Amino acid sequence: MVSYKKLGLVNTKKMFAKAVKGGYAIPAFNFNTMEQMQAIIQAAVETKSPVIMQVSKGARKYANPTILRYMAEGAVQYAKELGCKKPQIVLHLDHGDSYETCKSCIDSGFSSVMIDGSSLPFKDNIKLTKKVVNYAHKHDVTVEAELGVLAGVEDEVQAEESHYTKPEEVIEFATKTGCDSLAISIGTSHGAYKFKPEQCTRDKKTGKLIPPPLAFDVLKAVEKKLPGFPIVLHGSSSVPQEHVDTINKFGGKLPDAVGIPEEQLRKAAKSAVCKINIDSDSRLAMTAAIRKHFAEHPEHFDPRQYLTPARDAMKELYIHKIVKVLGSNNKL
Ligand SMILES: [Zn+2]
Repeated sequence: MVSYKKLGLVNTKKMFAKAVKGGYAIPAFNFNTMEQMQAIIQAAVETKSPVIMQVSKGARKYANPTILRYMAEGAVQYAKELGCKKPQIVLHLDHGDSYETCKSCIDSGFSSVMIDGSSLPFKDNIKLTKKVVNYAHKHDVTVEAELGVLAGVEDEVQAEESHYTKPEEVIEFATKTGCDSLAISIGTSHGAYKFKPEQCTRDKKTGKLIPPPLAFDVLKAVEKKLPGFPIVLHGSSSVPQEHVDTINKFGGKLPDAVGIPEEQLRKAAKSAVCKINIDSDSRLAMTAAIRKHFAEHPEHFDPRQYLTPARDAMKELYIHKIVKVLGSNNKL
């Protein structure tokens, strides 16, 4: 058993309470490589932002659970080395699929876990979430649960159609499970293809897709039922057009990739939404930088040559999200 406290990590409790009160959201960036982790920590330290580093079950397997535990410990020490006296870093499991996965993460240094029972019937979701909460809270680990179904693809999580969260269910769910935060479905979606072209309108000038707006009425209704309760948005990448264009320009093929407009996320961050998940955007920034570098420097073969601009591009993206979208800068 490795306690996250020994690694210098924190859980989400105080962080979320402050964010809900302060009208901003904590960035939850997915990672599975050293470069992503370095970029996340550099960005968080430079902007004085709390940060959630999260991994899915697939990413944990990719990185290896033992290496990950040392990476998280390294992230805390790295933040200190960069001049941050009291870093607020969470290591979070994204989309835990079973009690066993959550327990294994808690036992190996995670400070927060998500149990995703959203595909189960309501009662079974409550039962599973409650079981995880009971174990997690014994170890002072916070738990995120999910109600409602997001469309899109994220590792093993996949759904054809989304179902908005039913506001009339949230009080019973939160009370019976004791979860610390709740991911809801209001129209965000996983991946770089969040909407089918037929769900969007097209900008007449540029031909680019304009996605449908988020269901802020559902968010408002949830907030009314559970005042001040921490709400989480998954699938909240914006799919920056500049990165998609760069990828396509240098041999990639991402037609009609579309995300959530940043002004909608800015609006959400000011509400009870206190954690916003961003994964695809950093993948796009990294891939765009690498493709461009390969095209411009075909003679390079040292990974440092192309991973340095990739890391810089991700750092720039993370800083942009923190300062211009989530508003979590200067909150340490
Ligand atoms: Zn998700």
